[in-house]
Amino acid sequence: MTGKDEKSDIQAALAVLKERFTGKITAKVGEICQNWEKLKSTPEDLDTFGLLHRQVHTLAGTSATYGFEETGRLAGEIEIVLQDELTENHAKWTTELLDKVGDLLLQLEAVAQSEPVEKNHGIEIMAPRQVAQSGNRPRKLIYLVDDDDDFLNTMKIQIQAFGYDVQAFSDLALFDEAVQRQEPTAVVMDVIFGDSSKAGIEHIANINMQRKQALKTIFITGSQDVLTRLDAVRAGGAAYFPKPVLVGSLMNVIDRLAHPSIEEPFRIVIVDDSEEMSGFSALALQQAGMETREVNDPLQLFSVLARFPPDLILMDIYMPSCSGLELSKVIRQMDSYITTPIVFLSLERDLKKQLGAMSLGGDDFLSKPIEPWHLVSAVTSRVQRGRMMRKLAETDGLTGLLNHSKSKERLVAELSRAKREKTPLSFALLDIDHFKQVNDTYGHPAGDQVLKSLANILKQRLRQYDTIGRYGGEEYIVILPNTDVSTAKSIMDKIRISFSEISHSSEKGHFSCRFSCGIASFPDFDNTTILNNEADKALYEAKEGGRNRVVVSSAGQSG
Ligand code: GH3
Ligand code: MG
Ligand code: MG
Repeated sequence: MTGKDEKSDIQAALAVLKERFTGKITAKVGEICQNWEKLKSTPEDLDTFGLLHRQVHTLAGTSATYGFEETGRLAGEIEIVLQDELTENHAKWTTELLDKVGDLLLQLEAVAQSEPVEKNHGIEIMAPRQVAQSGNRPRKLIYLVDDDDDFLNTMKIQIQAFGYDVQAFSDLALFDEAVQRQEPTAVVMDVIFGDSSKAGIEHIANINMQRKQALKTIFITGSQDVLTRLDAVRAGGAAYFPKPVLVGSLMNVIDRLAHPSIEEPFRIVIVDDSEEMSGFSALALQQAGMETREVNDPLQLFSVLARFPPDLILMDIYMPSCSGLELSKVIRQMDSYITTPIVFLSLERDLKKQLGAMSLGGDDFLSKPIEPWHLVSAVTSRVQRGRMMRKLAETDGLTGLLNHSKSKERLVAELSRAKREKTPLSFALLDIDHFKQVNDTYGHPAGDQVLKSLANILKQRLRQYDTIGRYGGEEYIVILPNTDVSTAKSIMDKIRISFSEISHSSEKGHFSCRFSCGIASFPDFDNTTILNNEADKALYEAKEGGRNRVVVSSAGQSG
């Protein structure tokens, strides 16, 4: 489905929701009037009072959301009188107040008839967000520009080793032609050409002036001059590296530029007793690329959460069977949702009254009516923060890979999926060869760069649904779903060769590294402990057999 279709689909769905609500406004106001008449004759009837209050409250929120401001405003005013003045306290039922509500209701009836006709415009929604592509990635194109041929050649091989296509240029005019022909994912540009100390920066600045979007450019230079750095930023540079370039860091930046958002869609659960309201929020969030589930009966929330663990819960406060605040308290008592952000979406009046209730476990308040863009941006920032916190807890700080415990968790999950789907699964253990010597000879920081470069190359070469983890020290794991043992061996062998071709640089000179790898697969082995042990044995064999090789568990090979 293309972005355009998606947008018009959502627009159409919004229009349907709005139409459905519009068709019901008069009936809703009619019910409100009836209940009001009933209540006037029996002011002590608390059920009717509660029902009326809820009906008016919901009408206020939903009308405003669909752009019927007058209807929303009048319903809101009635709600205020009901709540603040009348309440269940009979002493306050003066003729004056009764007349006031009666008058407001008359106005409401009239406006509810006329406003939907006057304002029968569509609801404007934003262009859909580009949804991140999944699956196998095509190779991204990098342009490398430098007048030093030696540098060009070594850099080219190294960036290629990370799975990119690289075109190298020592001539700026040829580079210009190439940019016209085909847009690169990123440009790595030398700053100094011949005797001009800023030629690279000026050249990119000129190209960018003629473009809508700046070329994603990484500048490299022999000069440490702060002013040159400043010029690089002004020219739209994404990063700046002094020579000698640390390949690991350079690749981090290239990866970031090439894959800006390899991210799962945000998952949002919307709790609101009004279908029209939850439908509105759902569509606003969907058009921004998020996945949503609507819960109109709060008592159903937990079964929905179990099937659809969300990044965030958007919660109405005022609902018939239980309040959103109570519900949040219950959610917070459950281990699985202890960190799930809860954002209250409620009427302005609740907002003022309920701010103090934040302590019950809410993370934020938004007030109805809310513009789609505002809802999307508030939800986005909360989800991003929440995901970042979770990531920090699950990943290794140096490489960004999953940490030991999360890796093990994934193996359990992936293996049970493989069993369920009757597909093979391969588990690989990697260990860098003679890594201690790297630290001893080139220093710990250089060792860290090697660890990062192995992480990068694994991320580059493997599929998005493969799992990569740092098991500890210089040991990594890879889980390859739907991959048999011989395919896994050939994949890991290719990565092994590429990794060995990277030239790492340090203050004490250049060097290269290798790794050994052991693989065990399902269905040859069918529990996680055995997979682990067998892969470990195979890794040991690889080390014993001379390192820099991939060995599959011998039991697996025969089977
Ligand atoms: P082998 O080929 O048998 O695997 O030899 P090796 O030297 O790689 O293995 P060994 O397990 O003896 O040494 C691992 C080294 O990894 C020791 C430790 O200092 C180093 N190391 C562990 N974590 C880190 C890290 O985060 N950064 C750096 N730079 N070094 C680390
Ligand atoms: Mg090692
Ligand atoms: Mg080791």
